[in-house]
Amino acid sequence: MCITIESDMTQQPVKVRFAPSPTGYLHVGGLRTALYNYLFARKHGGIVVLRIEDTDRSRYVEGAVENLITSLEWAGLHFDEGPKQGGPVGPYTQSERTALYRDHVTQLLDEGKAYRCFCTPEELEDARARQQEERREQAYDRRCRALSEDDIRSRLQTGTPYTVRMKVPLGGQLQFHDLIRGEVSVHYDVIDDQVLLKSDGFPTYHLANVVDDHHMGITHVIRGEEWLPSTAKHLLLYEFFGWNPPEMAHLPLLLNEDRSKLSKRQGDVAVEDYREKGFLPEALVNFVALLGWNPGDDREMFTLKELEEEFSLERVGKAGAVFDLEKLRWFNAQHLRNLPASQLADLCTRWLDEAGIAPEDTEKREAVVAALGSYLTFPADIAAHLSALAEGQVEISSEEARSLLAEEESQQVFLSFLALAEEQEDWTATEIKAMIKRVQKETGVKGKQLFMPLRLALTGEEHGPDLGLLANLIGKTGSIARVQAQVR
Ligand code: GLU
Repeated sequence: MCITIESDMTQQPVKVRFAPSPTGYLHVGGLRTALYNYLFARKHGGIVVLRIEDTDRSRYVEGAVENLITSLEWAGLHFDEGPKQGGPVGPYTQSERTALYRDHVTQLLDEGKAYRCFCTPEELEDARARQQEERREQAYDRRCRALSEDDIRSRLQTGTPYTVRMKVPLGGQLQFHDLIRGEVSVHYDVIDDQVLLKSDGFPTYHLANVVDDHHMGITHVIRGEEWLPSTAKHLLLYEFFGWNPPEMAHLPLLLNEDRSKLSKRQGDVAVEDYREKGFLPEALVNFVALLGWNPGDDREMFTLKELEEEFSLERVGKAGAVFDLEKLRWFNAQHLRNLPASQLADLCTRWLDEAGIAPEDTEKREAVVAALGSYLTFPADIAAHLSALAEGQVEISSEEARSLLAEEESQQVFLSFLALAEEQEDWTATEIKAMIKRVQKETGVKGKQLFMPLRLALTGEEHGPDLGLLANLIGKTGSIARVQAQVR
């Protein structure tokens, strides 16, 4: 027998949810799931819910929920309903909804769609070990499914602990449509009689997830591919309860560069790690948006607002998406240079202060970051460029650089520069660049032979931001003094 489970959500206003288990931090994969749900809701004028799935008490981590919420807010994702803001179908934390799950388990027991399992953890472990030894599929052998009413009653009377398992049909298969993966069919014989209620009275993820998605009016379940194997169980539960299931969309896996599943061992996976390293939320969101989705053309730069308009599940692929750190760094550099100068100056406060540019001198601070912004990958990178702007003489540390400065051609460049600079009235970047052109004309020295000694004399560095911008920031007097210091 094959049953096809169809979802009909066409009449319902879109409502989606991000349903993390609070394990201590927000995984970048979780951020992508949250983002896609958020974008899908915004695109369709729907609602996005944050639901905390904390029924596994053994994995409880102090402060984990606050941490999750902080990371989501930092990324700019705001939820319409959730534990903090409340809403019409709360509470939004599963550990506060246990009575609801228990009622549903009672209903399934009464209707013969679930059964009590009195097997002890040791018995289950033994059975698993035997199956492993015999190289058989490891699944519950369903022995409690056959217990008589009397047997069950007497065990209940003696207070024997039990779990409740779902009665998966013994033959046939189930078919459903996934918005990303297409048609999926699963044989019942590979589905275990899943535990729905644990002996501590808490539901398992599977039961709580389905009951909540139904009661919260969720129309589309958008989540990671690792949940695809559980979907058949979930749809079977919808069938048991006689509910219209939501549409399903399983997002492709995130991969390390060697194409293994993205893991902590190969790099950072927590959003907060990226935040601490100086990645901007705009960059991380832009980068993560493109891990699975594409706009259909070669555009790469997107703001959250633009993504809200562009996003569609039709453009999410099936293939795993590689988490390319170099690309993320590139996005960071791009978004940094797009920031308004005042915001960039705020991000660089510490280094501007250290360079002695007074906090009140907003004009100078903003001019400096505007000039240097396009040379940064992280805000902290500005420190290296600022040192070139510090008051006083520059230090030339390498022997090679010192001998370049002493060369005849370099000396001619310096003398010509000094003569022209004295006459120069406007000391803007453009004027300075035009002046350097004149130095080239007068001395006949060009290219690297011209720029390298000037850059070394002015900044002490061999490479760096536009020389006109730097000389402008150093100021006319400072620039003249530095070049003068290199004249033999
Ligand atoms: N609590 C599950 C998780 O931690 C949610 C999976 C789902 O979205 O159904 O990812």
